[in-house]
Amino acid sequence: MAVFTIAHLYPDLLNLYGDRGNLLCLQQRMVWHGHDCRIKNIRLGDNLDYSSLDMIFMGGGSDREQGLVYQDLVKRSDSFMVAIEEGMPVLCICGAYQLLGSSYLDLDGHLMEGLKFFDFTTRATKNRLIGNVLIKACLGGQEMTVVGFENHGGRTYFEDNSLQPFGEVLRGYGNNGEDQKEGIKYHHLIGTYLHGPLLPKNPGVADFFLKTMAQRRGIEFGSRLDDDIELTAHEQMKNRLI
Ligand code: GLN
Repeated sequence: MAVFTIAHLYPDLLNLYGDRGNLLCLQQRMVWHGHDCRIKNIRLGDNLDYSSLDMIFMGGGSDREQGLVYQDLVKRSDSFMVAIEEGMPVLCICGAYQLLGSSYLDLDGHLMEGLKFFDFTTRATKNRLIGNVLIKACLGGQEMTVVGFENHGGRTYFEDNSLQPFGEVLRGYGNNGEDQKEGIKYHHLIGTYLHGPLLPKNPGVADFFLKTMAQRRGIEFGSRLDDDIELTAHEQMKNRLI
């Protein structure tokens, strides 16, 4: 049995709409695979030892919390990007996703610097993009649909058209309600507007992260999990949307 560790960055600041449920989903699925999975909370100023981690997670947050987190996150940006380039699995939801870009212009006209990992910008507008979302995605060579819930004022635009979205919007808004792009995917990083939490109703996305964590440790899972309940929940939402 192996013990995996997922870092939850800023759990007290970035954790909107039950985003922590993604960690509980990953933890339980890892246990079902016969391994252990610990969640390490990293708060403002805490040391982040990437060599002890198998994955990094950040949830959503309001503009205020994003500003608080940015000041701490920017001090870690070089080492964080090295980890991403080296294939660290990373899941960033909504506000955390927005911070990965060049900038975030909030409703009051304050320009918040982003980590500049990717050349995209986000601009908040009064009318929030709210509702259930259905996208199609391809992870690890496997085509899949993904369902979730979005609630964001920010609209994200790729300035670099070579950037790969997490998926293509079939129902809902996604990054900006205009270009049918949702989120971003880079190596084993996914940034997305999909709350829900995202992973319990999308076992294919959860397994993308679990398999990557295991493979990076030279571990192959023996068998597939029984996802009848998860896929029933997925199909129920998908059928409601199409
Ligand atoms: N504050 C950001 C926005 O409104 C992100 C919100 C969120 O994380 N749900 O766009």
